Amino acid sequence: MVLSRDELSRLNEKDTYTDRRITTSIYCGKCGYNLRTLPYVYTCPECGNAYNARPVGTEGIYTAHEVAPPIGGSLGSILALAVTAALVHGGLNPVDEPRLYLAGGFLLTAAYFGIRAAVGWRNVLRHRTVTRRIDGEDG
Ligand SMILES: [Zn+2]
Repeated sequence: MVLSRDELSRLNEKDTYTDRRITTSIYCGKCGYNLRTLPYVYTCPECGNAYNARPVGTEGIYTAHEVAPPIGGSLGSILALAVTAALVHGGLNPVDEPRLYLAGGFLLTAAYFGIRAAVGWRNVLRHRTVTRRIDGEDG
């Protein structure tokens, strides 16, 4: 079997980093734990997050970035719920089937935006937890 130059360098790098320990402050992307002195490819001792801190192909590692709150998704969900409520209210007395089907469509829209917003808020909270922890360690 002949390995390309690219594959060889990848193998070398893997071997190099499996034996080495992290010497700088690198933080777990899930909980913000400082991974210094731990192996480059391992799991966070605090939360169990599998990470790969090798310079190529990192995974589960905190990187400084902005996380915007999901305002659009939240407002979209609230708006779609309001339209759903109005359509249901207007479609029940007397019963107006097309209006109720339309309400169902808006309910699905509200669920779609609601799930997106929930995921977005979870990411915002997680990011805040991790950055607070890192800031506390620096100060
Ligand atoms: Zn962790």
